[in-house]
Amino acid sequence: MMRKEKDTGTLFICATPIGNLQDVSFRLIETLKSVDLIISEDTRTTKKLLSRYDIKNAKIESYHDNTTEKKVEEIIRNLEGGLDIAIVSESGMPLISDPGFKLARSCIEAGINLTVIPGPNAALSALVLSGLPVDNFLFIGFLPKTSVKIKRKLEELKTLPYTMIFYESPNRIEELLRVLKEVFGERDICLARELTKIYEECIRGRTSEVLRVIKERTQKGAKLKGEIVLVVSGFEVKKAEEFNEDTIKNELSALIKRGLTKKEAFKAIMARYEISRRDLYNISIKLNRF
Ligand code: SAM
Repeated sequence: MMRKEKDTGTLFICATPIGNLQDVSFRLIETLKSVDLIISEDTRTTKKLLSRYDIKNAKIESYHDNTTEKKVEEIIRNLEGGLDIAIVSESGMPLISDPGFKLARSCIEAGINLTVIPGPNAALSALVLSGLPVDNFLFIGFLPKTSVKIKRKLEELKTLPYTMIFYESPNRIEELLRVLKEVFGERDICLARELTKIYEECIRGRTSEVLRVIKERTQKGAKLKGEIVLVVSGFEVKKAEEFNEDTIKNELSALIKRGLTKKEAFKAIMARYEISRRDLYNISIKLNRF
């Protein structure tokens, strides 16, 4: 049940630059100047930002999502007592693969005023540069660490028709591209690197083309550095009408040869084409395989 907001202080969720310190708004500066306390994932980065904009005497404390319950309760009490608090992360929008979710939820539950100072975010910046469809997209953020779990997650995402956005470190990007190719097959992708910084670049192409570029660079000793967002096109649903019966027959027969059961083969075809189970069944009996 929604609780009514009370006359409390406000938690300002503040986006900060993802590389270029000029990417700040007047409102951000005003907010950081006026709040009673800034809580930050990385106080060193925050101090640099404050110093760049000549914000003096700000009170800064460290905040992580594994910050103790006691600390969260203390922040809530301060907000309830009327203090205004800004939360910032190391870069970009707090909560987005960064601390803040737990606190924002606690504020909502306690009826504390909450607002956002919008600004930079790596995912959206990469998406709009990617050249991939922006009408429907899915933010995935960081994938799990082990390859088994990565594959399992990618299998889950494989047939979703939305552009997908992943965060990844330069050390693991080559491996991710390899697994992506294995699970998703070829897709249109964009590797966006060092956004808003001097060496900003976007490597666009099919998965194997981008993988080749990365491998070539590694071989030349120019290992990929910096921060990376990978944008991947969604699964393309092809209309069954575009395909004649023979195509569907060939695909079915190939899946059966690969050892899939009839049920699994149907599921795979139906995920790929807009075809009814009845039509698929009728085609399959002509195959004489089942
Ligand atoms: N909260 C941030 C946001 O709003 O984008 C994301 C923080 S997350 C801990 C850090 C990841 O974001 C990096 O590993 C990278 O994937 C991505 N990232 C952050 N800054 C970036 C930049 N300048 N260029 C490309 N990717 C960036």
